[in-house]
Amino acid sequence: MSIADNVKRVHDRIDAACAKAKRAPSEITLVAVSKQKTVADIVSAAEAGIQHIGENRVEECIGKIAPVQAAAPGPLTWHMVGHVQSRKAKRVIQHFDIVQSLDSLRLARRFSRLAGDSDQMLAAFLEINVSGEASKHGFAGYNWYQDNAVKDRLLRELGELFELPRLDIRGLMTMAPFEAEEGMIRRVFADLAALREELQDSLGVSLPELSMGMTDDFEWAIAEGSTMIRVGRALFGSRS
Ligand SMILES: *Cc1c(COP(=O)(O)O)cnc(C)c1O
Repeated sequence: MSIADNVKRVHDRIDAACAKAKRAPSEITLVAVSKQKTVADIVSAAEAGIQHIGENRVEECIGKIAPVQAAAPGPLTWHMVGHVQSRKAKRVIQHFDIVQSLDSLRLARRFSRLAGDSDQMLAAFLEINVSGEASKHGFAGYNWYQDNAVKDRLLRELGELFELPRLDIRGLMTMAPFEAEEGMIRRVFADLAALREELQDSLGVSLPELSMGMTDDFEWAIAEGSTMIRVGRALFGSRS
């Protein structure tokens, strides 16, 4: 299977999931996650129509951006989807268009200050750890609708975050639990969608995007309201 064939197959899957959910495929942005993949692979994806690229390691990605952009048919939007260490925040701002993995108030403050230094706004998603898995990054959101301490903390921290001047928060992002079954994965996606409503109502903010769904679960994410899916293996093949 070529990457172009894979892009077509993923679009077929998106179309089928949207038909089932009575949604329009145009509501879904496909981000191709190219970690561990080569410049040639990313260029092939771009030639097949991919416009959004996701990477999870700063150093690995920075080396790929210039050669990809030199060969790609048009400009690509680069998304950081992995955890960002404080000391790498500056390089992330310099090279990426969107940070999907804004996972703490401390990092948000740092990004806002750095964006101010270079007189720019940083587009970002708030990563929420809805599954509660300890291995996952994100603002603690497990069981937020039943656990008032979790909800109060989220509202307090995110309320403070939305006051930061240089962040353009587009929406929420989450990762499904590993190796869980459908019901559990869908509940995580539904919880994130409900949290978006709660934050919009309680904080008076607008959060148009929900970034959720990967190779193994994006149909369920689309059924639960995802507007952005992050797909790696179904486009580029398995990783080592
Ligand atoms: C790797 C990765 C993806 C893509 O995962 P696949 O299972 O290969 O589709 C999506 N989001 C994040 C944050 C990732 O690190």
